[in-house]
Amino acid sequence: MLIMPKLKRDPIHGRWVIIATERGRRPSDFPVEVSRPSGGFCPLCEGNEDKTPPEVLAFRNNGTSPNTPGWSLRVVPNKFPALRIEGDLDRQGEGIYDRMNGIGAHEVVVETPSHDETLATLPAKAVENVLWAYRERILDLVRDRRLRYLLVFKNHGVAAGASLEHSHSQLIALPIIPTRVNEEIEGSRAYFQYKDRCVFCDIIRQEVKERSRVITENPSFVAIAPFAARFPFETWILPKTHHSHFEHMEPFEYQQAAQILSDTLQRINQVLHDPPYNYMLHTSSFSDVEKDYYHWHFEIIPKLTKVAGFEWGSGFYINPTPPEEAADYLRKGK
Ligand code: ZN
Ligand code: ZN
Repeated sequence: MLIMPKLKRDPIHGRWVIIATERGRRPSDFPVEVSRPSGGFCPLCEGNEDKTPPEVLAFRNNGTSPNTPGWSLRVVPNKFPALRIEGDLDRQGEGIYDRMNGIGAHEVVVETPSHDETLATLPAKAVENVLWAYRERILDLVRDRRLRYLLVFKNHGVAAGASLEHSHSQLIALPIIPTRVNEEIEGSRAYFQYKDRCVFCDIIRQEVKERSRVITENPSFVAIAPFAARFPFETWILPKTHHSHFEHMEPFEYQQAAQILSDTLQRINQVLHDPPYNYMLHTSSFSDVEKDYYHWHFEIIPKLTKVAGFEWGSGFYINPTPPEEAADYLRKGK
């Protein structure tokens, strides 16, 4: 029987959480330390297509059938989804609390048929395919009127939350706009109201001129260590031309985005010795038309420190590596 996940809102912060009971475990099921995410068998490898739910998108060789070998990239629903696509939101009050059904999409982008490649070792063309897949899934899910935001993210390595070793990223489409995304959108809006300029465009202009936090760039994109980096080697990748929506770029811009993402991940790999990392694609919410105040970007966070008591308690971060030094290492590291 399918158990519907629930979305519950914290009445103080307005923050929603997903209670995904089907993924839930008893206390003894939470491993304290795992060295390898998967044993011998990998459901994402070529030849094991029947071990995943049927693909919703694939880039395939001509003449091959869905859910068989012959692909370079597949997108499949997550076998253990945090949210489910079937059903109604059924928004309800429960005393002072708010809840709704956990409606949404949770998909896995299998980035390569090969078990041993990563985004840092794949050719830029394969990385570009990954970005095209993100775009296609956004354009498809945006038509679902129940959904309001889609977050693409990647967990690379056990310490960064990956449960499978095989190179993949995930997307979760949500019926609400997450608090953290909303803070960023509202902060950008306030800056625009005051200055009549996009804060990200202003950041790019200043960083490209000053250079001390620039890691690498190409004609359309720049990778920087942000001025107030929360974590050592935190890296942002931004399009130089103002775009509020990732999915609204010109075809050549995806090629350029893949080039700089690949370049940046290779530098991180080289300098930090293939560290675990997360990246997140921050883009505009579904319902909105082009925004002059918001600017899509990637945030990459190598997992080098642990978020602990002070961070949990305050929302402050203590970063032991100045972003200028991190940028310098990454600039030279290739
Ligand atoms: Zn594999
Ligand atoms: Zn901008």
